[in-house]
Amino acid sequence: MPKPALRFYNTLNRQKDIFTPIDPDHIRLYVCGPTVYDRIHIGNARPVVVFDVLARLLRYVYPNVTYVRNITDIDDKINARAAERGITIRKLTNETTKYFHNDCRALGAIPPDHEPRATDHIDGMIAMIETLITRGHAYEAEGHVLFDVPSFPAYGKLSGRSTDELRAGARVEVAPYKKSAMDFVLWKPSDDDTPGWDSPWGRGRPGWHIECSAMSRAYLGEVFDIHGGGLDLIFPHHENEICQSCAAHDHTEMARVWMHNGYVTVSGEKMSKSLGNFVTMSELLDKTRGEVIRHSLLQAQYRGPLDFSYDAMTESEAALSGLYRALGDAPIDMDAPVDDAFLEALSDDLNTPLALARLHQLANMVNRGDEAARPVLKRSAELLGLLSDTATAWFHHSRQDDGIDDASIQALIDQRRQARADRNFAEADKIRDELTAHGITLEDKADETIWRRG
Ligand SMILES: [Zn+2]
Repeated sequence: MPKPALRFYNTLNRQKDIFTPIDPDHIRLYVCGPTVYDRIHIGNARPVVVFDVLARLLRYVYPNVTYVRNITDIDDKINARAAERGITIRKLTNETTKYFHNDCRALGAIPPDHEPRATDHIDGMIAMIETLITRGHAYEAEGHVLFDVPSFPAYGKLSGRSTDELRAGARVEVAPYKKSAMDFVLWKPSDDDTPGWDSPWGRGRPGWHIECSAMSRAYLGEVFDIHGGGLDLIFPHHENEICQSCAAHDHTEMARVWMHNGYVTVSGEKMSKSLGNFVTMSELLDKTRGEVIRHSLLQAQYRGPLDFSYDAMTESEAALSGLYRALGDAPIDMDAPVDDAFLEALSDDLNTPLALARLHQLANMVNRGDEAARPVLKRSAELLGLLSDTATAWFHHSRQDDGIDDASIQALIDQRRQARADRNFAEADKIRDELTAHGITLEDKADETIWRRG
């Protein structure tokens, strides 16, 4: 079957282009990962899910994909939080990374091929900073090393900002050692109480931007196919990554395609730690399951905003129940093809709302008796990371507030069958009422009773 032409919106030229790999035998993808000082909220979960879908699609189309997502484990927010709690940054970042991985697993995200930690790549950062100094793109000042922004004329291309705008934007509290207000930190000094590493410029720590330039180079080379991240990273983070990498490697591009996911909003306002309007993944996982959250995050096309609400979660749960009902429990032939219309939707800049709508059409076909649509539904849903369970596992899923476990439910159902066999219908009804009170729905078939939660 011919490979579909993938089209992605590229932030660099602000248009949707046909994706042309640098090397079709090896697709290379880098996505900025979390700064691990605290639990992630649903806004941070969006890029995890969006770029997981992208990686799944790329792997379906191409034979070999390397997906790298870093962990930023050195940062002033991390230092401050560790000091506040009286623990080492390593303890804080290990703990937070473990929570992050649990959240990713709950969201059904496949781990990236490499997940480098910034603190394991300090040597690479120092080497890149030395190259930038040698090439005349960086300078040392008072224990800091700064990128010399005016030395890189293409600065501002990704974010579409002119140098004049940038200069005006950088006016506040300019450090006296900066040659230009736009210059940004590659390396900064650490005092005795702050984590630091030895460097040619004294004991210090890297700036955030150089981390991603060094780590992407280590795993993907100087120029790679796709760089992703949230919309809020375009400026200054990605703009700065580009000038560091291009200036150090003497290339005109760092990544061919730049993809950015939109914000998760609450009543139209961006969800963020600073605004305090956030819902953490752990809070949400107490109320619903990861697959429901994943489904709701895919209900909007990734570039647009996605408004968070508990109603949307309820709708996603109902939508998934509908799909699982069609899927059933019978074994599925995983050699089945992915549906053409579904693949076309996903290939068009990850149009997940259209792809989800197509899954519901496939489910309707199954419900009307088209058995061939069933494996196609399963295989297609797999590209979105959905429907990985069986119907029974989905409907039996235990919610914390049910107050009844599977074995007790089955025991009550057995008692009810016996009561009915004994023609003790009052007792049978009493048992059904008890199960209903726990949110369990029964469906009597000829030779068995099927149950589900909710
Ligand atoms: Zn980054």
